[in-house]
Amino acid sequence: MINLVIFGPPGAGKGTQSEKLISKYGFVHISTGDLFRWHTKNDTPLGKRVKEIMNSGALVPDEITIAMLKEELDKNPQAKGFLFDGFPRTVAQAEALDKFMHDNGSAIHFVVALDVNEQELRERIAKRKAIENRADDEEEKLNKRITEYFGKTIHVLPYYEKQGRLARVNGVGKIDDIFTSICAVLDKGR
Ligand code: AMP
Repeated sequence: MINLVIFGPPGAGKGTQSEKLISKYGFVHISTGDLFRWHTKNDTPLGKRVKEIMNSGALVPDEITIAMLKEELDKNPQAKGFLFDGFPRTVAQAEALDKFMHDNGSAIHFVVALDVNEQELRERIAKRKAIENRADDEEEKLNKRITEYFGKTIHVLPYYEKQGRLARVNGVGKIDDIFTSICAVLDKGR
């Protein structure tokens, strides 16, 4: 069983690569962004709490995010392995995740960080906006999301780097080539 975090700024390709990884390795996919979107779409009590925050491009507070993640983990006790996508985004979330995994006799084995420069990110998100029309892809909100990434989320990298669990992968290029690089990391470490 391997557990993987796929890490990177908005537009880095986490969702695209996650789909490919799931079909190859059979991970249970946990995307906190998708979960929050499901809650807001279905107007659940949690959705009502996070809607404004998400629409502004800010991060949802840790206590809410961590509680939702824990619930998802508990729903999947038989998982062969988890792929965390968009989580953790703060050091507190990374610590909580380690604790949850440890409590289940498991661990996060790999953190794959997709490196993509800011210009490329903006171009990709502009294209995604034209296709998916996500409210938080609008320019002002996108600026906030990028600020949140470089202000808070990036600090998660040294947390994993110190523990030797971080692999950086060039996230610019052909989707299949990036996927091959990620698979090489996983297959080498298994
Ligand atoms: P994403 O689809 O991963 O870019 O997430 C969309 C939005 O959901 C983010 O801009 C945040 O508002 C919220 N979100 C998703 N994951 C997290 C997280 N781990 N911590 C805090 N907020 C999150």
